[in-house]
Amino acid sequence: MVVTRFAPSPTGYLHIGGLRTALFSYLWAKRNGGKFVLRIEDTDKARNSEAATEAILKAFEWLGLEADGEITYQSQRGAIYAKYIQQLLDEGKAYKCYMSKEELTTLRETQMANKERTRYDGRYRDFEGTPPEGIEPVIRIKAPLSGEILVKDGVKGDIAFQAEDILDDFVIARADGSPTYNFVVAVDDYLMGINEVIRGDDHLSNTPKQIVVYEALGFRVPAFYHVPMIHNAQGKKLSKRDGATDVMAYKEMGYTPEALLNFLVRLGWSHGDQEIFSMEEMQRLFDPKDINKSASIYNTEKLDWLNAHYIKNMSNEKLTELLTGYNVVLTSHDKKEMLLDALKERAKTLVQLATLIQEVITTPTEYDAKAVKKAFKGNAVEILNVFGAKLSKAEELKLPHDYHAVMEAVVNEMEIGFGKIGNPLRVALLGKMSGPGLDTVMAVIGKEETMLRIANAMTHVL
Ligand code: GLU
Repeated sequence: MVVTRFAPSPTGYLHIGGLRTALFSYLWAKRNGGKFVLRIEDTDKARNSEAATEAILKAFEWLGLEADGEITYQSQRGAIYAKYIQQLLDEGKAYKCYMSKEELTTLRETQMANKERTRYDGRYRDFEGTPPEGIEPVIRIKAPLSGEILVKDGVKGDIAFQAEDILDDFVIARADGSPTYNFVVAVDDYLMGINEVIRGDDHLSNTPKQIVVYEALGFRVPAFYHVPMIHNAQGKKLSKRDGATDVMAYKEMGYTPEALLNFLVRLGWSHGDQEIFSMEEMQRLFDPKDINKSASIYNTEKLDWLNAHYIKNMSNEKLTELLTGYNVVLTSHDKKEMLLDALKERAKTLVQLATLIQEVITTPTEYDAKAVKKAFKGNAVEILNVFGAKLSKAEELKLPHDYHAVMEAVVNEMEIGFGKIGNPLRVALLGKMSGPGLDTVMAVIGKEETMLRIANAMTHVL
């Protein structure tokens, strides 16, 4: 069974890059009928916070990405790590190193002066004497110091790391007994049964070290897929300004989970030239072997385009529910179907949709000065008066075309073009020149409100 994982360090919110590898891992597990597990890597007490963990879980909930089984917290697994460290000590595969801080600094400085790679020199690797007093030792693993470590990567192919160039006997437990990052990742991935690791290629340099740990413990090494980073349009690593912000900020900006996930799945992965993927399709088609070898480019227009697509195709019921999160309550609005049908094709985000709706359902109190000037030329006031009079007499005004008919009657009777009534009416109803079709606006707000808005505008203009 394929078991994948997402293993965030709760040092801050969940960002786009992290979410993408989480999504890839989730999809690959689902495609194989496997499991996707979540592990919170919260061992760094100084940098981790519960709030960050909460934020990550909240983002998962919003996106509907559910992890299988219990969430694993590394902070609760000290005893497990201690056991494996002890095992390595007992087997002579790890050892205590009593080097002092000063000694380490001196060693580093000498190596730097000699233009050598800074590395631990193995002085306690085979130490058998009496340890110096007053020093709490760290524990180092005996790493191979020559030969190669082969990372078999499903995205990048086989990568041979020369032990000599990258390794030393690295620390697996600090002087206070706390285990280090590469050690716990390897132990947990094994114990949690994870056999396919999909993560950002910023972790590639950790992988040989983790392989050293797997091998020392006699653990099977998982399959790795290191995913190239997301770049901005300038080809640089994505920064906050480009959108590498909190995933929840996308919710605030009015993006739907469907659009965001669809957007992310296409960052670095493709299936022919298909752009739109439902969750079901993603789960059926995603394969980490098809992940691109080069960085992907973040493109906001694409995200907007996808979001518009999902909003346009969403049921009005679902939209009504989502809009409550954007301060628009339409639940009991008798014309909400008409309103949403007219507006959902015009919005790139739910925030925009909320604004468009507010603009229709709220009686304007301000009128755009330029629009007023442009619309209320000539006999605009007279035209609106004629329209108002006809409207007040009209019965059975229900649908947009009923209102359209009244406008048409005015146009015919006064022998004017549609713009002559359309422009001032639009400003009267919406306070500005833009917005959806007027017949729809009137059908949504109804006859009385339409008359009220016309009267209001007149007072304003005259
Ligand atoms: N905790 C690591 C991070 O947040 C990920 C570890 C891994 O995926 O192996 O960057």
